[in-house]
Amino acid sequence: MKNTITTVLCGTLLLSGTVFVSGAAFADDYAWDQLVALTDETNGIGARRVGTPQEKQTADWIAEQWKKSGYKVTSQPFSFELDGKVLKSENVMVDIPGQSDKVLVIGAHYDTKGDEKGSLGATDNGSGVVALLAMAKDLKGKQLPYTVRLIAFGAEEFGLNGSKYYVNKTGALDNVVGMINLDTIIGGDKLYVHSAHSTPYKCDYVRKANYTGDTSVRSGLKAVSDQLYKENGHKLHPTFEGYPEGETGNWSDHAPFACGGIPIGYLEATNFAIDGEEGNDGYSQTTNDALWSCFDDKTLSACNREEEKHWGKIWHTKFDRLDTLTPLFKDRLQTQLNQNIQVLETFALEANKWVK
Ligand SMILES: [Zn+2]
Repeated sequence: MKNTITTVLCGTLLLSGTVFVSGAAFADDYAWDQLVALTDETNGIGARRVGTPQEKQTADWIAEQWKKSGYKVTSQPFSFELDGKVLKSENVMVDIPGQSDKVLVIGAHYDTKGDEKGSLGATDNGSGVVALLAMAKDLKGKQLPYTVRLIAFGAEEFGLNGSKYYVNKTGALDNVVGMINLDTIIGGDKLYVHSAHSTPYKCDYVRKANYTGDTSVRSGLKAVSDQLYKENGHKLHPTFEGYPEGETGNWSDHAPFACGGIPIGYLEATNFAIDGEEGNDGYSQTTNDALWSCFDDKTLSACNREEEKHWGKIWHTKFDRLDTLTPLFKDRLQTQLNQNIQVLETFALEANKWVK
């Protein structure tokens, strides 16, 4: 409790006089408090670019939080090449034991991009990381049908390095029946769940490529979310150029798992209704005027496509930080975070209903 109060105060100071939404309305502020603690530049870690001391510090911080929740934490160090340099990173993981040897992987990358523009990676992907922390705390001692393996992936930006490394390790996919990727699960206007594409990704980096576009994890997550949140549940994106309804590309940590033959689900907050820079592809995340030079409500696009500078994008921009976003979105960020966690925990508790 003391910790919660301290962090809330800290959050109030951080937002320096702007509207701070009291956590009183929420049953559990743990995830939100951890997001504040991780992304605060002054008292926390802030940006976490690949190969920096801050990325390493984040891996250690995640391990420390899981240890506080009573887990044995495994670190999986790896190196990778970026722009001709060899960099180091690591995956950090815990297993929450279930009643069978089948494994459900839930993963989120902890590195960030766009620090030169002022991003602190609050939504991309601090949100996914703190969901992993909350699940470890909440699911401890619960009767889980399958073991839940939580993995914080290093070095996702610039090459999915952590998830590729994990998938290529001998035995890493043994008994794994499904994988859920969390990447930017708050911030955007709507919550979505995706599956891998029905057309196989290029999988030449996976030793035993055995691609699947199986939709069972997506279907299960959607059913759980619809049941709990009715019309506000996670949506499937409509069909857009090259992407049938609900199917996503290979740009995040779910891709190596799909290549390894594992059914995937991918949670994301964005807005596929917006006609963005490249069409309705979900890269424009919000209609909020503050994130556009000028947004036209009628066309759901920029007033002037030539002159638009921001395109409603939060990720990798100066908007991806709580001191900017919280005043713009009020309690939406925390509400979305808690909804995602609730859906994930419910899915984990009945995973045998959805994946075999
Ligand atoms: Zn991301």
